[in-house]
Amino acid sequence: MLAAALKQIKDYSSVLAEDYEDKKTFKKAIDAILIPQRIIKGKISVNVDGKKKTFQAFRIQHNDARGPFKGGIRFHPNVTEDEVRALATLMSLKCAVAGIPYGGAKGGVVVDPSKLSKDELKDLSTSYAKFIAPYIGVWRDVPAPDVNTDGQVMSWMLETYEKKIGLLSPGTFTGKPLELGGSLGRTEATGQGGVFVLDVYARAKGIKVKSSTVAVQGFGNVGFWFAKLAKELGFRVVAISDSKGGVYDKKGVDVDKLMRLKEEGKMLPINITNDELLTLPITFLVPAALENSITKDNVGKIRAKVIIEMANGPTTSEADKYLYEKGIDVVPDILANSGGVTVSYFEWVQNLSGYYWTKERVNLELKNIITKAFMDIYKVKTLKKISFRGAANYLSLKRMVDAMMLRGRV
Ligand code: GLU
Repeated sequence: MLAAALKQIKDYSSVLAEDYEDKKTFKKAIDAILIPQRIIKGKISVNVDGKKKTFQAFRIQHNDARGPFKGGIRFHPNVTEDEVRALATLMSLKCAVAGIPYGGAKGGVVVDPSKLSKDELKDLSTSYAKFIAPYIGVWRDVPAPDVNTDGQVMSWMLETYEKKIGLLSPGTFTGKPLELGGSLGRTEATGQGGVFVLDVYARAKGIKVKSSTVAVQGFGNVGFWFAKLAKELGFRVVAISDSKGGVYDKKGVDVDKLMRLKEEGKMLPINITNDELLTLPITFLVPAALENSITKDNVGKIRAKVIIEMANGPTTSEADKYLYEKGIDVVPDILANSGGVTVSYFEWVQNLSGYYWTKERVNLELKNIITKAFMDIYKVKTLKKISFRGAANYLSLKRMVDAMMLRGRV
């Protein structure tokens, strides 16, 4: 995934290079973007089954030319340094695409949290917060939830951090529960942002909502909210899946009912595999699980007209090239799932000002930011005759390069 992210930056920067007279400085800026500013890694120790166990932990701060580092923390057994680095890089691009004043970062611990008790998860969160405490802060680096982390994890981390610095600092973490200074609308923000993108895409292309079908791969927070809100807007959600398999119904699936089953720990009424979901004849395919789900092995079977990337990095570069050649639009992750970090930004703004917004204001401002980002990208795409991903990269790289040049970093 890292190689793909770096290749993407190198490839798309060649389109952007035409806009800069001073090619040497431009190249220096792009070379700097290929390397994170700081890699923090080490072992953290956690009490598991009454014994001390150590886990590999990372926080990678990619580039803060546009503002403090920002990005989630994931707890997953497949976390690697390369993956965290790629995701931190994507966060820089994502914040720049949305036009919010942050640089990118990402954190991760190599752990399977489903095997931990609540006390062990608290110990893990506390240990990790102590580990990153010297490197974070409201104007330095602002972590948030990501895969397998949530508001409770953020609460434990915030408490640890504030104890350490001897000061309340709610704006140092986002994705907090409302009681601790979280924002209304943050839980559903990534899904909501994706649905705003879906809506503006459909309108820009003259696609009718009522006759559009949607299949969502992934039934975590992002997949669930995307499916629920897309359905509320009138799109027909015909399939949704978790890691065990999918539920398909031509007439539309009952997203709320399936979520209830999941919450009660019951099996979903699975009738298709995850691979079958990818090949359904639908309008919008929405990968909302982990990275690398659309690969050169399954891309040939995709029959969707458009892909909206709600996961981070769900399409490999070979698959992406194939889709572009076949004329299937891919609305890239750095735009489609930027609703999460955008409402994190609103949360941070509310924490800094101490004044809290209504949910209507959060959603209205989210809609404005994400619709503008889409239109900016759409303009570049049309003007330069490139893919959505190319245009999103063009814009975000331009914003980063300009900030680095203004600071005299290159
Ligand atoms: N983890 C989310 C993402 O990948 C949100 C990050 C944030 O809110 O800082 O975009």
